[in-house]
Amino acid sequence: MHKQRLEGKVALITGAASGIGEETVRLFAEHGAVIVAADVQDEKGYQVAASIGSGKVTYHHCDVRDENQVEETVNFTLEKHGRIDILFSNAGIIGSLSGILDLDLNDFDNTMATNVRGVAATIKHTARAMVARSIRGSIICTTSVAASVGGTGPNGYTTSKHALVGLVKSACGELGDYGIRVNSISPFGIATPLACKAFNLEPDQVEANSCSQANLKGVVLKARHIAEAALFLASDEAIYISGHNLAVDGGFSVVNRSYSTTPVCIQV
Ligand code: NAD
Repeated sequence: MHKQRLEGKVALITGAASGIGEETVRLFAEHGAVIVAADVQDEKGYQVAASIGSGKVTYHHCDVRDENQVEETVNFTLEKHGRIDILFSNAGIIGSLSGILDLDLNDFDNTMATNVRGVAATIKHTARAMVARSIRGSIICTTSVAASVGGTGPNGYTTSKHALVGLVKSACGELGDYGIRVNSISPFGIATPLACKAFNLEPDQVEANSCSQANLKGVVLKARHIAEAALFLASDEAIYISGHNLAVDGGFSVVNRSYSTTPVCIQV
């Protein structure tokens, strides 16, 4: 039995019915947390909660684009568990793949409403609950390599994830006074339903694509790896880490592999 790194903690996770959110629900539950798993995919969400059993996970419908639903979900969590220690604000969409010349601005608005406004609403209402109860909580958001590198996602998505890094820094600044940490995780491509549907590919095809573009070879990035990063940031092991965008991308966002380094260095 491994150490229970979240024993006694209450977590609210959005985008919890699938992919990274689902893996994080499972890992947090293994580590002793009780969880409210929020999503718009009700059938999948109830299945995830039921498959974990022991009453540790409760599914709750929440469309993060609707502030009333976010507030109601936070209140539901407080009524059920009395507190919130961890928010993993992870729900996100990729939006249309159309380029800037054909940009669908309604689709752009919807991506921003989900990936930025929705996350802002979850931080607002969860942080209020933490502050009111003097809880030194941990807030974690899911950004992307598209938060730092253009051309890795569509326009709306790239814009939204860049904005999310700003939101994390801004919230970190204010909430530090209350002992609340705010961080994000920036994954490289993973074969979740988001990526498979967007590119109309099977999971093994998405993984093959990611592996061919990856900087770090020999590892296939899985949703579980992001859940492990979220576990670290949620736990007391990250007690003095705030305002950080933790890249889980094998170095992709800091390396330009179109340059061949060694021969150039030798010449210089
Ligand atoms: P996913 O599609 O498997 O999971 C996303 C979940 O968010 C889904 O269950 C979906 O129903 C939910 N969701 C969407 N809109 C919502 C809304 N308005 N309200 C509540 N829930 C909503 O995809 P995933 O890859 O696990 O995505 C999770 C996060 O990871 C997203 O923020 C995504 O941008 C980010 N991300 C994913 C990748 C990747 O390659 N898969 C890479 C970088 C970042």
